[in-house]
Amino acid sequence: MKTTTSSEGVPIREEEIDAVLAAGATRDAAHVREVLAKAKELKGLSASDVAVLMPISDPELLGELFATARQVKEEIYGRRLVLFAPLYISNLCGNECLYCAFRVRNKDVKRRALSQEEIAQEITVLVEQGHKRVLLVAGESYPQEGFSYVLRSIETIYATRSGNGEIRRVNANVAPLTLEEFRQLKAARIGTYQVFQETYHHATYAKMHLGGKKMDYNWRVTAMDRAMEAGIDDVGIGVLFGLADWRFEVLAMMQHIAHLEERFGVGPHTISVPRLEPATGSNIAAQPPHAVGDLDFRKIVAILRLAVPYTGIIMSTRETANIRRETFALGVSQISAGSRTNPGGYVEGDPVAVSEQFSLGDHRGLDEVVRDVASLGYIPSFCTACYRLGRTGHDFMDMAKPGAIKDHCDPNALSTFLEYLTDYASPETQAAGEKLIADTLERMNDGVRRISQNLLAKVREGQHDVLC
Ligand code: SAM
Ligand code: SF4
Repeated sequence: MKTTTSSEGVPIREEEIDAVLAAGATRDAAHVREVLAKAKELKGLSASDVAVLMPISDPELLGELFATARQVKEEIYGRRLVLFAPLYISNLCGNECLYCAFRVRNKDVKRRALSQEEIAQEITVLVEQGHKRVLLVAGESYPQEGFSYVLRSIETIYATRSGNGEIRRVNANVAPLTLEEFRQLKAARIGTYQVFQETYHHATYAKMHLGGKKMDYNWRVTAMDRAMEAGIDDVGIGVLFGLADWRFEVLAMMQHIAHLEERFGVGPHTISVPRLEPATGSNIAAQPPHAVGDLDFRKIVAILRLAVPYTGIIMSTRETANIRRETFALGVSQISAGSRTNPGGYVEGDPVAVSEQFSLGDHRGLDEVVRDVASLGYIPSFCTACYRLGRTGHDFMDMAKPGAIKDHCDPNALSTFLEYLTDYASPETQAAGEKLIADTLERMNDGVRRISQNLLAKVREGQHDVLC
């Protein structure tokens, strides 16, 4: 068994996962219903509970699983969906991850690290589309100045304005850092620090990472410990689904979460669920060793929603519009929109295959995604209030746990949505949006409606960035 102890890293106990999976494979309907009833209490699930839900294939039980996830999502998160855009600043990379187009030995990719001026131009395009949140992404190799390139880029993003708009929260997905670098990232006013383990399965990890720093499983799996030690209390974890058995990955991710909760008293702020997509120069990406089908993918989202009800789930534009729509209801709380995965992609317009990281499944622009989300009855939210009002880590979780976050989220979601509609939306989207706002107000309880109406009135008077 490959195990790490807490003194040398995060304990991922593979034998324990195998044993839990074997015990959960009984498919007893009564037992499944017991677990679903427990999930409705919003206290999360144990590994053995989760293992009971994983094998469900009976259509009736599947329907019950999805309905329970929907109920839990609505209870905690309401009907909002937070929107963001990734910003790829560089595709230089010193690692050899077999699934990624940016891997160092891939000669089919045009390498590019954006200058600060180019970053400001990319941000101007995103701000003028209406974005307020950006996820900065980079390969693991920086231009001459080293890691300070990332810090300067964050500064540039926050400093760029256009019209009434600016980016109000910068999250980052960059390779694991040292404690000192994490401290610098915190000082740069980072929102969430995100890094995916890709696979928690040690043998698969070794097979997929054939060069560079990323070969060190332990350095990566302990990244969140260093981030939290450095005071970054919103961290985002994830698995690249398709590399190893998804059931193993979900249970390993739960061990990672339990470790963070035990050590820091708070788990990750978000979980990402990327599925392997085709990538230039990657055979693994074209034929994933453990491809996850659409039904299993929906099960992953629903099970995560029930297992860790207070953790946000992020759905990227790797997925098609249809899959994204289906998973909104099951527990997704944040989505990207109008994304480009090639550095310089927003200024250039069309995706440029020779420098993008992987192929996208949803090519729609922000306006169209917002209209679609609104017509499905969800509130597209551009809110960044929690982070800016200091509601992160423990404070966020304390508020999320009794369901109170909804009382803040829904009014803030509505006011930032109205700001978007007023400043950036097409007439069609404005019409769909105003209808959603009216319907949402009608469904709210009196107190939350009053708070929302107050914020909305300020936005209609022309105020920006009103929050509660
Ligand atoms: N280079 C840093 C790292 O690896 O942690 C951060 C940025 S990397 C560009 C962001 C994520 O993209 C990776 O963690 C991986 O999960 C994902 N990714 C890589 N290749 C992919 C593919 N072919 N399809 C979908 N996602 C992919
Ligand atoms: Fe580099 Fe990250 Fe791609 Fe690996 S996943 S090759 S580290 S950019």
